[in-house]
Amino acid sequence: MVLFTEKDPLKKVLSDKRNKSLNVAGNYKLGFVPTMGALHNGHLSLVQKAVAENDTVVVSIFVNPTQFNNTADLKKYPRNLEKDLALLEGFQKDLIVFIPEVADLYGQNIISNSYDFGSLENEMEGKHRTGHFDGVGTVLSKFFQIINPDRAYFGEKDFQQLQIVKKLVSIENFPTEIVGCPILREENGLAMSSRNQRLSDKQFKNASIIYKTLMEVREKFEKTSIDQLNQMVAERFLQNPDIKLEYFEIANENTLKTTTHKNGTVNYRAFIAAYVGEVRLIDNMPLN
Ligand code: AMP
Repeated sequence: MVLFTEKDPLKKVLSDKRNKSLNVAGNYKLGFVPTMGALHNGHLSLVQKAVAENDTVVVSIFVNPTQFNNTADLKKYPRNLEKDLALLEGFQKDLIVFIPEVADLYGQNIISNSYDFGSLENEMEGKHRTGHFDGVGTVLSKFFQIINPDRAYFGEKDFQQLQIVKKLVSIENFPTEIVGCPILREENGLAMSSRNQRLSDKQFKNASIIYKTLMEVREKFEKTSIDQLNQMVAERFLQNPDIKLEYFEIANENTLKTTTHKNGTVNYRAFIAAYVGEVRLIDNMPLN
């Protein structure tokens, strides 16, 4: 494992590696896994897949200020660099860890580009976290320009982000293939998240209602109207006063447009955002 904290030396090493390998075998692949650190097995599953599919893998650890619309959330975001590095040390492959400073990526201008992600940005996370996806697009665009990966790996845990990144790549004409990876869960079904570290034992236990409700929606989806499902979910959360539902949506998996009526040819997914105390959690599940 090699560590970089500045973009220029990283760029140089990556371009040397590519040139050298192209001269020898001609089929060199560079994989990229962007993270905000506080790594868990969900992150590591992305790294594992990237390592299996590429010659070199870059993992970035960077808590990106422009994607936080809430300064308290940014401040309290879990950080544990030492443990992260120990976890990444476990991968034998040609692994590069990139841990830039905010100034190295943004200079003195910590602002987002403004993207037109079409309908993708007006729903769910886009609606509830103003500017979030412009921040995500901005930082990924910076990373993609520095690293120029052949493949980049993203979790379906942030399904809307995954769709936004596919759109970003087409807007910016990056030659990068975006690879979606399945959600890893805790034993009680709760989607793994760096934010779970902030939950008390009781909250952690209670938070499994998110997964249980999504499973119930999935089981009932075929024979139940969307209206009834919306109502059922609202009731489930009302029964659990420790968790506040921010939104529940059933949406077209490709357009992410929220739906009120099913159409047989469309793939649907259910999305939840909820507050457990001060901690905001999201999850989603395919329905058909
Ligand atoms: P984050 O550090 O939260 O920005 O996440 C970095 C990457 O890991 C994103 O592509 C996430 O979607 C992915 N990820 C986070 N949690 C999980 C999980 N439980 N299962 C799979 N991927 C995940």
